[in-house]
Amino acid sequence: MSKIHVLDKTTIEQIAAGEVVERPFNVVKELVENSIDAGSSNISVEIKDGGLSLIRVTDDGNGISKDDIKNAFLPHATSKIVNIDDLLSVRSLGFRGEALSSISAVSDVELITKTPDDLTGSRYIYEKDSDNIPEDIGAPNGTTMIVRNLFYNVPARKKFLKSLSSEGSMVSDLCEHIALSHPEIAIKLISNGKTLFQTSGSGDLKEVIYRIYGLETAQNLIPFVLENDLISAEGYLGKPTLNRSNRNYETFFMNGRYVHCDVISKAVEEGCREYLMQHKFPFCVIHFKCDPKDIDVNVHPAKMEIRLHKREDIFDIISDSVRECMRSLELIKAVPVIREEDNKKNEVSIPKAPEPFETKRILNFKHVDPDEEVSNVIKADNVAVIRDVSQMNLFEDKFLSQDSMSEYKIIGQLFKTYWLIEYRDTFYMMDQHAAHEKVKFERLMAAYRSKTVTSQSINPPIIIDVNLKEADIINEYIDEFNKLGIEIEDFGSGSIAIRSMPQDLYGCDEHEFFREILDELNENPLKGDHEVILNKIASMSCKAAVKGNTEMNLSGIKALLRELMSLDNPYNCPHGRPTLISFSKSEIEKKFGRIVT
Ligand code: ADP
Ligand code: MG
Repeated sequence: MSKIHVLDKTTIEQIAAGEVVERPFNVVKELVENSIDAGSSNISVEIKDGGLSLIRVTDDGNGISKDDIKNAFLPHATSKIVNIDDLLSVRSLGFRGEALSSISAVSDVELITKTPDDLTGSRYIYEKDSDNIPEDIGAPNGTTMIVRNLFYNVPARKKFLKSLSSEGSMVSDLCEHIALSHPEIAIKLISNGKTLFQTSGSGDLKEVIYRIYGLETAQNLIPFVLENDLISAEGYLGKPTLNRSNRNYETFFMNGRYVHCDVISKAVEEGCREYLMQHKFPFCVIHFKCDPKDIDVNVHPAKMEIRLHKREDIFDIISDSVRECMRSLELIKAVPVIREEDNKKNEVSIPKAPEPFETKRILNFKHVDPDEEVSNVIKADNVAVIRDVSQMNLFEDKFLSQDSMSEYKIIGQLFKTYWLIEYRDTFYMMDQHAAHEKVKFERLMAAYRSKTVTSQSINPPIIIDVNLKEADIINEYIDEFNKLGIEIEDFGSGSIAIRSMPQDLYGCDEHEFFREILDELNENPLKGDHEVILNKIASMSCKAAVKGNTEMNLSGIKALLRELMSLDNPYNCPHGRPTLISFSKSEIEKKFGRIVT
């Protein structure tokens, strides 16, 4: 009996569909990309049950003319290219003509559409191999695609799906990325009847960030611009208060496309390193542009990975300019004072973002510039409100400059740890340990860079017992320890000998010091090149060395402040903890009810 047979048409279609549509995410992506290609300025996406029972994408784009409707569902049917030559100039997101045919092979699809030239709209319910024709209905310009019962006919596909809520959150991540990549398009996402977010299409990336991540994030952004022949960029970096424990808040677009790129992530992290605690990642949304010749986007089409051809150069360009950008701001952590009453008083309603299906569009959606210091937009139950955010002010007075030294008033010490300092109209608290740690770290690294590390020998050496794993750890990083002036030797039978310590760390409790470092290295092995590891070991060492409540007198603290001020970035200790926080006089007066606004 012969074993080879030709698959039937339905099976072939379902297999082909599987390549385009793996989960609800793909359907939404294809439909929204079609809406963008159609020149829409408003797109709403609605899903139910993670997209499995319903996906509805409504746009106000140029629609599909009556004669084209049935063709749009044919495999390889597209209006975007005619032949292979067009590929070189194609500017649309889609061009393969596979999406609608694939989606309709694995779900029930209904289409409502109207072009500006047609007098009436059309409604079409796709049915395989049927000759049903679109019916006339009244509809606004644009297209609505309704996809129901996804994978009803491919149960095998359903088995590979995650929970409805995970599928739903993949869709919402996608819609967020689309909104961030197109601030000029108003995007709305509704899931199970609830609006998850909505942008106004004002073209302002900061506003989109605010709509998606909220007020606190929008208040803590640093504009980032990079101009270079190889690569240019525009976007926002988060201040250190926004640092996160994973990379999910690093968002990158390359030539308008949401991408994952290791080199870019690492470069941005490297640029922010002085402000990042260990195992923390920055918040950022950055649009990059480069010559398409310099990137390879085909590494993983589904996973959005890209590969850069000039990796090293691009790494340096990005990390240098991120570092410069972060340093350009005074990053003393302000403690905001926000009271409910204050918020309510300043609320001013502005119209809701327009709905694609509204007959009369509200085109004069009030544009609010979040850069204006006096007002910002926050969301309360879908209504945007304006409120006073003067507490967003950064530090206009250069507190940490040598010149201002004479104007400080050091009030005293609190809890044997924090120094209270008055300077003009601001009250500062300095964390003595963080400041000390920072100063020691900078001294140690400067000595290392200029090859002038001085270490002091310990006589007799200090012997510390270590287990096998700890001995391995010491061996792995011995080179870095030595370079920093921490001389260690194997002392046999499960112990090591500390023979010298760098000048600056000498005198700390070495037992405690090593236990802490070993625990930390044990738990979190260091990754990166020699320099990165050396940096981290130096920062861990300084942290371990300044532990404990070292009492300090006034002249010691003045010297510490003076040294802190001479550093490039005095505001964060190497672990990213702030060295200083501040309260303005008016914030304090508000707290005591002396001033009301
Ligand atoms: P592709 O996007 O690769 O051309 P699709 O299968 O996604 O293929 O869509 C087929 C065609 O249907 C498109 O080329 C376009 O002409 C039309 N189309 C699909 N969605 C829309 C929409 N939302 N608005 C206008 N035209 C659309
Ligand atoms: Mg398409």
